[in-house]
Amino acid sequence: MHRPRKRFGQNFLRDRHVLDRIITAAELCPSDHVLEVGPGPGALTERLLMSGADLLAVEIDRDLAASLRDRSEEHLKVIEGDVLRLDWREMLDQPPYKMVANLPYNISSQILFKVLDHFDLFSRLVLMFQREVGERLLAAPATRDYGILTVLVQTWYDVSRVVKVSPKAFVPPPKVDSVVLLLTPLERPRVGLVDVAIYRTVVRGAFAQRRKTLRNSLLGSGWSAAQIDPAFHSANIDPSRRGETLTLEEFASLANCLADQKQED
Ligand code: SAM
Repeated sequence: MHRPRKRFGQNFLRDRHVLDRIITAAELCPSDHVLEVGPGPGALTERLLMSGADLLAVEIDRDLAASLRDRSEEHLKVIEGDVLRLDWREMLDQPPYKMVANLPYNISSQILFKVLDHFDLFSRLVLMFQREVGERLLAAPATRDYGILTVLVQTWYDVSRVVKVSPKAFVPPPKVDSVVLLLTPLERPRVGLVDVAIYRTVVRGAFAQRRKTLRNSLLGSGWSAAQIDPAFHSANIDPSRRGETLTLEEFASLANCLADQKQED
């Protein structure tokens, strides 16, 4: 019997109803390629395999990875390793993938940044998060939960709630509530972007120092006054606002003005 390891965020899902909801949201078919991060003892893994899809499971815990491998399931490939350190382009060599996972909560934001960096590899994501992180992904501007991940994820995905999950659904129960979200990639970003890298830097910069004005926050994150002041003016955005009040469209117009200026330089 495996003793759950806290440092790996091991809270194993036991609730059949929640497993059903995850599987339904994933809309699997036998020709699918699926990535599961952190299969653990395999409750979700087993359900994913029932669809007939090819499953790639990445597990950091050596014992759990070994016991999954021992099952020698035809459609299952187990990689033992830290998902944050693996080369996703090399590992996910048959895109597109559906990613279905009950994520280790301590690294769920970092996993999302990796997902954003590999946008083209995924066709659908059904992911379990700690409720607070889930709220962030669903948040509206000017709310407490609105942040970098909100803006970046909502720019490239439709985000919807699949099911709320109580701690009782897990063994051992975590101290927090959870939520399963469905992320569906958009065909093109929700807002028109001239330069994706500049957009991402502006969004990161805007939230880098939440209590500062947008102007000071961007100044503190490497932009110069000569760059940002004309951009504020052209985008018609008040530089004394706080970053968290900007809508996706406003972030895009600010970033696009900066990108246009750069092209003129
Ligand atoms: N999928 C299982 C379930 O639903 O019962 C386990 C989910 S548990 C919340 C998270 C799993 O992710 C654990 O099995 C843990 O060992 C694994 N894990 C934690 N950090 C990881 C990492 N960096 N890379 C890969 N797997 C990781």
